[in-house]
Amino acid sequence: MSDCIFCKIANREVPKEFTYEDSDVMVFPDINPVKPIHLLIMPKKHIRDFSELADNSLLDKLRIVIQRMIKEQKLENRGYRLVVNGGGAQIIDHLHIHLLGPLGKAASM
Ligand code: 5GP
Ligand code: ZN
Repeated sequence: MSDCIFCKIANREVPKEFTYEDSDVMVFPDINPVKPIHLLIMPKKHIRDFSELADNSLLDKLRIVIQRMIKEQKLENRGYRLVVNGGGAQIIDHLHIHLLGPLGKAASM
C-alpha cells in the first residue's frame, strides 16, 4: 500500500535497521519505545489488522519469529507481553505485533 509507512519500510523506501528480516517477516524497534525492549514484528505484506490475517503459514512464520525474538532478547524468564491492536485501536493499519519487556506480573503497557 503506497501510503503505509510499514510498507515503505518493507520496500526499503524508508531506511530502517532491521532486528530480523526474511522474505515474509520483518522486525524493528518501535520508534517510541514504552519498555526497554519494544520490537514490532510484522508481515512484509500489507494486511490491515489481525482480523484480515487468513494465511496459516504466515501466522506460523510470525509465531516462529516471535519465539525467536523472545529468546534472542533473553525475555523467556524476564517477563514479556505481546500486544496486537486492531479494529481501529491501532495507529498504523498494517498488522504488527508489539513485543514488550522486560516486565513483571503487575506491569501495564
Ligand atoms: P499501533 O497502535 O498501531 O499498534 O502502534 C503503532 C506503533 O508504531 C507505535 O508504537 C509507534 O510508536 C510505532 N511507529 C509509528 N511509526 C513508526 C516508524 O516510522 N518507525 C518505527 N520504528 N515505529 C513507528
Ligand atoms: Zn502496509
